[in-house]
Amino acid sequence: MSERTGCVVVGGGPAGMVLGLLLARAGVEVTVLEKHADFLRDFRGDTVHPSTLQLLDELGLADRFAELPYTRVEEVAFPIGDDRQIVVADFRRLRVPYPYVAMVPQWDLLNLLADAGREEPTFSLRMRTEMTELVQEGGRVRGVRYRTEDGGTGEIRADLVVACDGRWSTARRQAGLRSTDFPVPIDAWWFRLPREPDDEPATLRPRAGPGRFAVVIPRDRYLQIAYIGRKGTDPQMRARGVERFRADVAALMPELAGRVDTLASMDDVKHLDVRVDRLRRWHADGLLCIGDAAHSMSPVGGVGINLAVQDAVAAATLLAGPLRRGTVTPKDLAAVRTRRILATAAVQTVQRLMHRGLVVPILEGRRMSPPTPVLAVLRRVPQLSSVPAYLIGVGLRPEHAPDFARRTGSAAPTERPAARIRRLRTH
Ligand SMILES: Cc1cc2nc3c(=O)[nH]c(=O)nc-3n(C[C@H](O)[C@H](O)[C@H](O)COP(=O)(O)OP(=O)(O)OC[C@H]3O[C@@H](n4cnc5c(N)ncnc54)[C@H](O)[C@@H]3O)c2cc1C
Repeated sequence: MSERTGCVVVGGGPAGMVLGLLLARAGVEVTVLEKHADFLRDFRGDTVHPSTLQLLDELGLADRFAELPYTRVEEVAFPIGDDRQIVVADFRRLRVPYPYVAMVPQWDLLNLLADAGREEPTFSLRMRTEMTELVQEGGRVRGVRYRTEDGGTGEIRADLVVACDGRWSTARRQAGLRSTDFPVPIDAWWFRLPREPDDEPATLRPRAGPGRFAVVIPRDRYLQIAYIGRKGTDPQMRARGVERFRADVAALMPELAGRVDTLASMDDVKHLDVRVDRLRRWHADGLLCIGDAAHSMSPVGGVGINLAVQDAVAAATLLAGPLRRGTVTPKDLAAVRTRRILATAAVQTVQRLMHRGLVVPILEGRRMSPPTPVLAVLRRVPQLSSVPAYLIGVGLRPEHAPDFARRTGSAAPTERPAARIRRLRTH
């Protein structure tokens, strides 16, 4: 037996949860399918950038966000030896309500969005429900078939299916949408180490040594480390064993040497096959892809979540009306890509330039830091660190909540949002 809804959203990641919430606030019947039982997956993107913080505020969710266990990152600084560092991105210089990146476990953010969604009568979130197949009839996507964890199956028909199922998207593959795949020379490995009280919390600090590169991300109770190496070297790294890996980490970050024993085996080190690709067309008739399903991002710059969220806001803004009228056309769907393509392509281009110009020279031992002319300019004109901060934190086309989705939070309306968050954190 088949059910019916206005919009099926496949995948409850950042793109899917924001889209589901916004469409529900527009009064559209929306069903979000998420294959996992919960949002508790480790080593997902955890950065919530100034543009997303502002969006949460516009949605009336700033107060709830402020209660999550987050840490603030106010700058990205590159160590240049002798205990000196150069700030390459200074978020404090941005004239935005939230001039910092909030590091928050992604599952907390997704739970917050799910709770807000459940307050809307037209919102439905089905966990443990995996989309297995697109229903395609007469050259149009008409809905999805799904399987539940307990073996049940079913079909939901809808005016529109939005694929938010991430970089291995089943929906985009089944629809035959073609992508441009960009060569990527790096992979990433993720692990955590204990955090100590005097670890500096406000700075995201990339570390470079001969043939090695890592970024230490301060989290509420631990340090999350992204360790970057050459693509395809995961089998060798695992064959060398955990002791050699610990020694590599200790050599790169001597201040953490006393903590590397907490890595019990290479099972504690998760491999990420880094990909950068982009669909040429983001839609088929009745289907739209957004977020990583439309464009896989490199972890460099930590912007994947925020782009996924921005796609969702653009999609909700452009499609809520057609969905309410039940008349979503391919032209409406194409408009989402048109609106988002510049910001997406620009970020992917910068990521690829950083792979080539920054990360690979470090991995090949040719350099230990960003190119000298860049450092010299930043040293002389520190205000320029606001440029990378803007590109990372806000991006080329920041999206704002459409009127139908805006709500006010419970705090005093005259108070500035950032001040409100600070106040709540002190309680
Ligand atoms: C290890 C790692 C670290 C990263 N670090 C950062 C970072 O620090 N900052 C940052 O901004 N970005 C980071 N990224 C990228 C970021 O996580 C993604 O760009 C972002 O999550 C994309 O959001 P999304 O909603 O498009 O897709 P996803 O977050 O991938 O969500 C897809 C969802 O769909 C579900 N799903 C998949 N298939 C199906 C199906 N058939 N049926 C139902 N559900 C399905 C999945 O379970 C998942 O919940 C990182 C990525 C990885 C892998």
